[in-house]
Amino acid sequence: MNNSLHEECGVFGIYTKNASLDAARSCFFALYSLQHRGQESCGIAVNSAGIIKQHKGIGLVCDVFNNENIESLGVGNMAIGHVRYSTTGNSSIENAQPLLIKHIKGPLAIVHNGNITNALELREKFESLGAIFHSSSDTEIIAYAITQNRLKTNSIEQAVKKTVKLLKGSFSLIVMSAQKLIALRDPIGFRPLCMGVTKDGSFMFASESCAFPTVGGKFLRDVKPGEIITVKGSTVKYDETFCKSKGNICIFEYVYFARPDSIIENTSVYKARLEAGKYLAKEHKALTADVVVGVPDSGLIAAKGFAKQSGLPYCDGFVKNKYIGRSFIEPTQNMRENVVKIKLNAIEQNVSGKRVVMVDDSIVRGTTCKRIVKILKNANAKEVHVRVACPCFKHPCYFGTDIDSTENLIACKMNIEQITKYIGADSLGFLSLEGLKEAIGIDNTNFCVGCFNGIYPQKPPSYSNKNKFDEKIEG
Ligand code: SF4
Repeated sequence: MNNSLHEECGVFGIYTKNASLDAARSCFFALYSLQHRGQESCGIAVNSAGIIKQHKGIGLVCDVFNNENIESLGVGNMAIGHVRYSTTGNSSIENAQPLLIKHIKGPLAIVHNGNITNALELREKFESLGAIFHSSSDTEIIAYAITQNRLKTNSIEQAVKKTVKLLKGSFSLIVMSAQKLIALRDPIGFRPLCMGVTKDGSFMFASESCAFPTVGGKFLRDVKPGEIITVKGSTVKYDETFCKSKGNICIFEYVYFARPDSIIENTSVYKARLEAGKYLAKEHKALTADVVVGVPDSGLIAAKGFAKQSGLPYCDGFVKNKYIGRSFIEPTQNMRENVVKIKLNAIEQNVSGKRVVMVDDSIVRGTTCKRIVKILKNANAKEVHVRVACPCFKHPCYFGTDIDSTENLIACKMNIEQITKYIGADSLGFLSLEGLKEAIGIDNTNFCVGCFNGIYPQKPPSYSNKNKFDEKIEG
């Protein structure tokens, strides 16, 4: 079992001024920047004068794409791309995106980041009316609803609008029709989506702003929760019918999911992590130690913030091996401990004989933290004090991450004292929810914090959607 939390997906779309091979290439480079949002599969679809071609596969962007298959996508003026980590639907090729539909009203390709919490109900309803689905992905249900609504409306935008009314849960979507590129976010705005522009004025959309500089573009603004933006040629239309006065972005985007160079809701993810580390130090002032280290990668920035605020020296505690691929051979049980050191090893000179504050971004199942504490102790750290830059994860997430059951959450089974003992630390402390909200700094009512306090901005489904959905679809 992989012990980290996973984001569901990353999406990208571009409408270029002139048709060229660059539409596919831009998508390719942008997906590289979004790779952290999903490593199971990826794909690109290109629109050449109304004809959409696509290529997708299982694996990383660098495994799936090469010069030949990028060029085979052809000259186009629109392209969309996707990196996937599944939360609804398994990780088979049928569930890889973009999802391409050939329909009486023209072709349609769609990419989705999120999780439709009423997917099962919608699927059953559509199937009872004769629909046949080819995958177990909730995205196919969205695509089906759009094509059905397209038959009753005059434009793809209207069909998309009608579909939004049917959907519950989280969805940041990019839809590419024969002539238009449409980007939209669910009215809560659980998952991020932003808009950028290239030097020559081509419009782009991406899950995170870190994708724009890789294609020579810059961040313009976030797509508002509930907003639908349609690009056709040089015309851009903004529809705010579903926008509310505020949204509730997933707070975990700042803690862990997003890349630190991204800007989400006008707030730097890097700055949010640095501030979270400072608040963590403020809340744990009494701690006496010699050095502060961060757990690579997402704990490093908070560790720097902690050190700055506490006045303790920051040092590199670990080296992370960047060359472990997906085909990593799993060890036998008695090799397991050494293999952890292949992935992450302590820098003994920096921690030996010292009282170490080890800052991590979060603790989900506790098993990874336990191993890392052991690595420090084996490197002769005198004491290891674990400080976590977010609160205890106590509730499932239904809105686009892979934590769908409290069974997997250590804080649901143990109190702080028990967790401290389990992970082998000398002490353990978490950042408070108020501290985290203040650290991020946007209006603190504008978050989803459901996994920390059980209060969700939208009523969660009464069952674990992923398990129920997979059970039904895959028998
Ligand atoms: S429940 Fe937690 S992980 Fe899920 S969307 Fe809300 S804040 Fe994010």
